[in-house]
Amino acid sequence: MASTHPVYLLFIGPPGAGKGTQAAMLEKELGLKQVSSGDLFRENLKNQTELGVLAKSYMDRGELVPDALTIRMVQDRMQRPDCARGAILDGFPRTLQQASALDAMLAAQGSQISLAPVLTVDDDELIARLTGRRVCRNCGATYHVQFNPPRSEGVCDACGGELYQRSDDSPETVHNRLYVYYKQTSPLIGYYYAHGLTTFIDGSQAIEVVRQALLDAIQPALAVQ
Ligand code: ADP
Ligand code: AMP
Repeated sequence: MASTHPVYLLFIGPPGAGKGTQAAMLEKELGLKQVSSGDLFRENLKNQTELGVLAKSYMDRGELVPDALTIRMVQDRMQRPDCARGAILDGFPRTLQQASALDAMLAAQGSQISLAPVLTVDDDELIARLTGRRVCRNCGATYHVQFNPPRSEGVCDACGGELYQRSDDSPETVHNRLYVYYKQTSPLIGYYYAHGLTTFIDGSQAIEVVRQALLDAIQPALAVQ
């Protein structure tokens, strides 16, 4: 990677679009830390922190956690040394208020977002993906029972951890999460489009094809940093 400035990519897309899957793969390839607000909330919940317990009530309903809490949590995470070269933001921002806070934070350190790839996938496919998703309890790696199965059922390829189904991946909660996405998060596409930062990727393609399309879109943006 040619850039010496921190590089910030943010993946936009509905739940199930493949943001986490792609961010985890590109983290290694690009040397940019994946920062997933959903993972941070789940980590807090696992550790029974006050934030985690509070966030749970929103997550269970498929609602967004209030902006102030979310912004503070992600900003704290981005100050850690492993984000010094930049980050791939996955699941944050999800509201216009979060987007403004992120812009202000990056501007204060003399940096900015390099690119905001938007992953597009139809609702039927999203529902199939979310209801079949499995996650490693230990390392957070993501699988799908049909589309991206582990080598051995219920066991993480990467670390041997146990795979589980997220409680918010139930059909009832999934519908509300899609509603919340279209209502509260999709306006961000217009926000970043107006800043010339969006690039649209067909997220319904195979994982490897999406990965290559993302890389092709990201490489030129990195070169001009
Ligand atoms: P997001 O982070 O956008 O919510 P994930 O990356 O967790 O989405 O992917 C949701 C589910 O869809 C997971 O079970 C994952 O294995 C699967 N998945 C991701 N990308 C693809 C793809 N291109 N084709 C089929 N299934 C996919
Ligand atoms: P995810 O892992 O991205 O699917 O997020 C799971 C849940 O965490 C969401 O349904 C929200 O309840 C919460 N969450 C994650 N990221 C955010 C965010 N940026 N703003 C508000 N709530 C969030």
